[in-house]
Amino acid sequence: MEEAKQLVELLDKRGVGIICSWEWDKNQRFNSLKSALSIARVQKELNQHVNIDATSLLNSFFDGNEKTAHIDKNGNPFFDYSFGKDHKIGCPFTLDYRKEFIRERVESFVKKYKEEGIDVDFIYTDWEIDGPLSVNGSYKASQRCKRCVEYLGKNFSYDKFQRVIMDMRAYLQYYSYSYPVLSQFPGSLIGNYGDYPNDGYRYWYDYYEKHESWQPYKQEQNAKYRKWHNNFSRTGFTMAMPVVYTWDNIYKWYKFSNTDYRWFYNMLRVASNSLKNVTAGIPVVSFVHWNTIFIGEDRQNTEIRQMSEGSYRELLWHMLLRGNNSFFMWSEKKDFSIEVKLVHEVYSAALQYREFLEYGWPVNFDVPEEEEAIIISGLALNDKILVRRTDFGSEKKPVKILVGTKPVMVNYNPGICQVVNLN
Ligand SMILES: [Zn+2]
Repeated sequence: MEEAKQLVELLDKRGVGIICSWEWDKNQRFNSLKSALSIARVQKELNQHVNIDATSLLNSFFDGNEKTAHIDKNGNPFFDYSFGKDHKIGCPFTLDYRKEFIRERVESFVKKYKEEGIDVDFIYTDWEIDGPLSVNGSYKASQRCKRCVEYLGKNFSYDKFQRVIMDMRAYLQYYSYSYPVLSQFPGSLIGNYGDYPNDGYRYWYDYYEKHESWQPYKQEQNAKYRKWHNNFSRTGFTMAMPVVYTWDNIYKWYKFSNTDYRWFYNMLRVASNSLKNVTAGIPVVSFVHWNTIFIGEDRQNTEIRQMSEGSYRELLWHMLLRGNNSFFMWSEKKDFSIEVKLVHEVYSAALQYREFLEYGWPVNFDVPEEEEAIIISGLALNDKILVRRTDFGSEKKPVKILVGTKPVMVNYNPGICQVVNLN
């Protein structure tokens, strides 16, 4: 208890909260609950949020059992290995019986907290390559599967497939994860990595995802943005978690000669997609990351130029000034210090504008597709606006923006936020 208290207090002094993991692995289950509870008791005592990573509990609906396999025309079971040889992705129409197993895991941990009178305030998962999936080779696999064809109809379209599969995914998230938590802790912030309201398109690819020719997309420069089913409201989640990362492919998607703007353009677009489509009352907690994430490229032999620290900080500011509520910094251990520093600098400097950040009205979600881009974001509150302008070009002329119903001039003023009086 003393040790837990010291840990919570020391990190709190540095402005860092603790997230504890609930582990399902038999060897870690007991200890993970024990240490998570001892931290949670201190967090409660000190009036801090109790934060949980429940990823381990959700893995995996597809547990490799043959009962979860697709079935070909000769009656033979088969798995879809297009997500890697370690991932036996099977038939989504077999998963109904798995939802109870997973729900019981979540309930068993939730129950312990309930018994102790400790609320779970924040709970997230990074549940990715499991359950009903609509990307990579999953469509091809379902076309080969007798059971899938039976449910989806002969010659089912990709569009129908994506809609049905993503709704199944949302249902399992609701049934096994968000409902068991929210029924006990209705005030919880609950979400999953990569699940957020959107405009019907996905502007990024995860590390395990490939573009497939059958998936509809819209093209912009060299980027192929995939059509996406908006299933967020079906998950029961109470926070949105977009993924605003420096994936290496982004660099080659765009032709902007200022290479920082390639990163900035895509990442602000991903963030804005969630921020402008989210319902009032649902906070947006974005996963963020600065160091280039090398998937297809060898980091030694690459022409990819890392995004500058300055542009990344500007990006974080613009996200906040478009209504982003918090940052969820992901990083490999070796990069912890720099990744924390960058996020923390912006976050702590932003606290002076707390009123605007909590109650302000985002005035702009535009991300200009041009070389001499001028990015403007702002939060209007009563008769003032908190505004930030970032220039990727050399023209420094004032720019007129619309603040709700009022046109306002924004002057060149790099690297700072301005509070402009609207009267
Ligand atoms: Zn199937």
